Amino acid sequence: MINLYGLTLTKLETMMLEEKQSKFRAKQLFGWIYEKNVVDFDEMSDISKSFREVLKEKYCLEKPTIFTKQEAKDGTIKLLLEMKDGAKVETVLMKYNYGNVICVSSQVGCNMGCSFCASGLLKKQRNLETSEMVGEILVMNDLLRETNERVTHVVVMGTGEPFDNYDNVLDFIRIINDQKAFAIGARHITVSTCGIPDKIRQYGKEGLQVNLAISLHAPNNELRSKLMRINRAYPLEELIPAVKDYIDNAGRRVTYEYIMLKGVNDSLEHAKELCNLIKPTYAYINLIPYNDVLENGYHRADYDTVHAFMDYCLKHGVQTTVRKEFGTDIDAACGQLRAKQEGKL
Ligand code: SAH
Repeated sequence: MINLYGLTLTKLETMMLEEKQSKFRAKQLFGWIYEKNVVDFDEMSDISKSFREVLKEKYCLEKPTIFTKQEAKDGTIKLLLEMKDGAKVETVLMKYNYGNVICVSSQVGCNMGCSFCASGLLKKQRNLETSEMVGEILVMNDLLRETNERVTHVVVMGTGEPFDNYDNVLDFIRIINDQKAFAIGARHITVSTCGIPDKIRQYGKEGLQVNLAISLHAPNNELRSKLMRINRAYPLEELIPAVKDYIDNAGRRVTYEYIMLKGVNDSLEHAKELCNLIKPTYAYINLIPYNDVLENGYHRADYDTVHAFMDYCLKHGVQTTVRKEFGTDIDAACGQLRAKQEGKL
């Protein structure tokens, strides 16, 4: 069975032609499944009965189910979703003043092995299908519909490395960006990567206006390799030129994410090194307060230290922000809920 939620409009059009249907059938189906939220083929009244039988035989409309749901005082919703094969992934909704931001997982577990991150406690089991990532949004929208709301922004910053699941993530972006599906504007979508140079270059050539964030977390190879295993394979002298190529091709600025870890990467010396490193890429910095989750010895930097670091970067001409925090009263840290569920925390 082919899950219709996993198909871009272009792919569905091709399939409809193969089914000896008109291309328009694909648009009709998109209208039913995304605009009208219909999950039963029999309700699709403008599609002939005989073709509805074909659809029922070969296609399905399957969404993940909610395994656990946590809701924080600030409105943050964290779901542990269960896929058809029992795999579980986390999805989080954060209510910013400018919209409802969903943080989508792209893999079941993660193999990137960042030493501070709870997601990597569980090794990658498999990639998520496009339909499963779309499913993360569908389930969240089902919850938000009760209050007449919907997901307006998407960040691919949940469990997994999106560029280690490139094709499925790209199809997912095409679907959520499609006017006939979720119509989420490209500038409201952000993909975050730990830094895989060839995929960063490829992403720059897709002709998408989607935002790119790079998890940097350290301003030199020695420290970055300690924090992020990926840096041993792709050190800064390979990462930064790839980012430059991305900017040249996509014509978009990037954001560097930088988790502030107490006594590890949070000194003004680090700030200086960071500014020098990224200045040529004319990028933003987003400083992230660390969520302490593991017995790994990492702790969040003090408030004053974070702000002194930010002031240094601002004074040296680098646009810098501190990430707003949500859901502090629930297991909001990356991978925390699932790791707990599976007995790893
Ligand atoms: N693999 C991708 C996307 C998933 S991680 C990437 O590396 O970018 C999304 C972001 O959350 C990354 O910047 C990651 O370093 C950060 N993160 C992981 N664990 C965290 C924690 N405990 N507290 C704060 N941020 C964390």
